[in-house]
Amino acid sequence: MKRWPGLAASLHMLYGKNFTKALEVVDNGGIMCFVGERTGRTLYKVPGRRPADQYLVFPAHFCSCQSFQFDVVGRSEAVCCKHQLAARLATVLNRLAVVKTCDIALARMLLEQCDD
Ligand SMILES: [Zn+2]
Repeated sequence: MKRWPGLAASLHMLYGKNFTKALEVVDNGGIMCFVGERTGRTLYKVPGRRPADQYLVFPAHFCSCQSFQFDVVGRSEAVCCKHQLAARLATVLNRLAVVKTCDIALARMLLEQCDD
């Protein structure tokens, strides 16, 4: 962050504790971006605290975690959850795996989320 003095402080002021937590998620690795071969649609999978936790993320609109439901949607206490922010940071920092996949596979990932 030395290249942009004050950037980290500004992001922390904007996103609060989620900024630090999102950086930890990025540092821990495992963020994946699935890109539909035909449509170019993207869907992220971001790891949670426990190894079994994987959240489905659309960085600008949705995360499947409880914090998104409670803090972002329910109480409007945050503009996004740490997983959404981690997906954005991982993208700009090139710290994620990009996987091209068929659009049917993307649809299946979404349907699996509906089953949970
Ligand atoms: Zn989340």
